[in-house]
Amino acid sequence: MNYDVIIIGAGPGGIFSAYELLEKAPELSIAVFESGHPLSKRRCPIDGDKIKSCINCKTCSIMSGFGGAGAFSDGKYNITNDFGGTLYEYIGKEKALSLMHYVDEINLKYGGEGTKLYSTAGSRFKRECIQHDLHLLDASVRHLGTDINYVVLQNLYEKLKDQVEFFFDTPVEHIHVQQEGYEIVSDAGVFTCRYCVVSVGRSGSKWMEQVCKDLSIPTKSNRVDLGVRVELPAEVFSHLTDELYESKIVYRTQKYGDLVRTFCMNPKGAVVNENTNGIITVNGHSYEDPEKQTQNTNFALLVAKHFSEPFKDSNGYGESIARLSNMLGGGVIVQRFGDLIRGRRSNHDRIEGAFITPTLKATPGDLSLVLPKRILDGIIEMIYALDKIAPGTANDDTLLYGVEVKFYNMEVAVDEHLESCYPGLYIIGDGSGITHSLSHASASGIHVARRIAKLT
Ligand SMILES: Cc1cc2nc3c(=O)[nH]c(=O)nc-3n(C[C@H](O)[C@H](O)[C@H](O)COP(=O)(O)OP(=O)(O)OC[C@H]3O[C@@H](n4cnc5c(N)ncnc54)[C@H](O)[C@@H]3O)c2cc1C
Repeated sequence: MNYDVIIIGAGPGGIFSAYELLEKAPELSIAVFESGHPLSKRRCPIDGDKIKSCINCKTCSIMSGFGGAGAFSDGKYNITNDFGGTLYEYIGKEKALSLMHYVDEINLKYGGEGTKLYSTAGSRFKRECIQHDLHLLDASVRHLGTDINYVVLQNLYEKLKDQVEFFFDTPVEHIHVQQEGYEIVSDAGVFTCRYCVVSVGRSGSKWMEQVCKDLSIPTKSNRVDLGVRVELPAEVFSHLTDELYESKIVYRTQKYGDLVRTFCMNPKGAVVNENTNGIITVNGHSYEDPEKQTQNTNFALLVAKHFSEPFKDSNGYGESIARLSNMLGGGVIVQRFGDLIRGRRSNHDRIEGAFITPTLKATPGDLSLVLPKRILDGIIEMIYALDKIAPGTANDDTLLYGVEVKFYNMEVAVDEHLESCYPGLYIIGDGSGITHSLSHASASGIHVARRIAKLT
């Protein structure tokens, strides 16, 4: 064997696997294969000046490279089983939480000390939300912020680089099952290992699907979440964000009984473009450093869409809707809430005249031409519901950016060790369809590393 363990993907899942392997079994030889660049070379060419929109780089620096999809994220590590994935269904609730706390300790040790841990426990907002048919989910959230998150990743890389062999810009093409262990085929050559940990995240979803097909590993189709990113003056939500930082609130619509939820709240943050397989969608982040903060808060409002027979391609559905917004707006569309409910498009004058400065340059347009009515109705209903706990949410000038899509990988069949039907082949993180967050993906990496350390 060339290596005892090969890890595919250097996102949080892969990084924390490598970290814990070094802690628990330092004698093992480990290699990490990553399609993207080292952290220091990850740069999105969009500068808003010469390059205004996505030029479809060979590997997207936002989604790929050391640190994975979350490298430039807000670095919110939610310590909860209520959202962020279903890891607890495989390893148990207590264990999942304890692993997430362990990940938090590592983050603090590697640069995150001094960052704030927010919690919904005992919050007065729970009661206030329920009074208005809104449900605040339980969580503790460590907010590293984009800047500190980057520092933690830099420090983790420094810790790993001398003992782990990293192959950057080296996508793995195939995994072949051998008599004992696995053969990993890449541009850099063919390598063998006893254990293989696959942690390829969202950007590796199509590749993961192919691997499962080739190796006949069973999979289940998952869901897609569709909606908009809301941007409003930070004061509107400050009573919530000052205490909780991020509030995950769920609302059941009266019209259809659909669940609409807030997602990824960024106090004093910025709305950003996100590129998934060449499709431009919207996301958001914020900084811990007060100098980089803005006057606005943003968060997503999402509706989950599951499909049953005969249609299975939930991600394809989400992609088509995102493509439609790209077709109409050349990228992300922005609309004032007041324009949306009056059935008219936003234009440059209406956006310019608003009492809020958008943090993302998006094309003024009409989201009702993009989002299905049922989803849009749910979002409008929730905005009015949120207005009761955060007056000002339903203001005419509240900005809605679309579309925000949260894609999920299909769920790969694994056991309680996150091991596939092939002994020693583990599928973890967002690539497994089981996790959808930094903390769950990281925890899944620790879980598998401890298992491998135990077996060796
Ligand atoms: C803009 C943005 C903001 C976010 N903010 C938050 C947040 O605040 N909190 C939160 O909990 N979550 C957030 N998320 C989600 C979070 O980043 C992911 O849940 C998390 O990164 C998943 O970790 P992972 O290791 O499973 O996968 P990833 O982080 O996606 O890493 C997978 C890695 O595998 C590599 N790869 C793929 N295919 C191959 C291959 N064939 N060969 C070699 N390498 C391959 C990719 O290049 C990538 O680097 C955010 C995501 C984005 C995009």
